[in-house]
Amino acid sequence: MTQAWKLAMPDLPEPEVTTVRDRDGDLWTRDGDDWRPEGAANPLHDTPRSWRTLLYEWGPVTDATPAPQRPARLRTGRTVGRTLYRQVGANPSDDDQLIGVMDTPELAAMVVAAVNKTDARDGSTTDVSPAPAGKEWVELTGGQSLLAHAPTLCADAGACTIHNPSDHHMRDWPQNWRDERLLMERICPHGVGHPDPDDVRLQAGLDSGTHGCDGCCRPLVHSRNEQGAP
Ligand SMILES: [Zn+2]
Ligand SMILES: [Zn+2]
Ligand SMILES: [Zn+2]
Repeated sequence: MTQAWKLAMPDLPEPEVTTVRDRDGDLWTRDGDDWRPEGAANPLHDTPRSWRTLLYEWGPVTDATPAPQRPARLRTGRTVGRTLYRQVGANPSDDDQLIGVMDTPELAAMVVAAVNKTDARDGSTTDVSPAPAGKEWVELTGGQSLLAHAPTLCADAGACTIHNPSDHHMRDWPQNWRDERLLMERICPHGVGHPDPDDVRLQAGLDSGTHGCDGCCRPLVHSRNEQGAP
């Protein structure tokens, strides 16, 4: 949303206005009562100026304050994904209001996407950017959003941390995607991250699985050994 001020009324804008664009197209950010140029090409712009000076020398200006990150209006349940909640904060929480249950997770996801998209059109910046081919936005167990591979890509792969978790004892623990390590973790009730046993790179031996362990992932090793025993 942009808002222009008239030179005839050079009042300092409301505190919510943190960035303005001058008539040359340069951005200025608020610095107390003064305004500091952002990466200005013009060397005259390199020191903070008063609002009045900014208006007289570089005006008129327009509001270029970045829109606030508004939270999604709706979200699906964090485990099965069929339940709709009205999200009250920036992140999913236990305070979110239950709206109802849809027949399938797909239907629930459609409703959430449609409502949140409408919200975005109203001027909020809710991220509803379309996923590139072969990828889709998923909600991990625990509520984290992740741009993940499409389910068609892992359909033949057996277990998948996202689409087809195996029957391990950590499968209901919140997931945490470690982007820098390309590893899915499961967070135990003590807040410790353990590699998700279904992680494809872990399975392939491409990740050592090293982690600061409090022992909570160990029962898995037992059950695996037992299953693997003749
Ligand atoms: Zn998958
Ligand atoms: Zn562990
Ligand atoms: Zn633990």
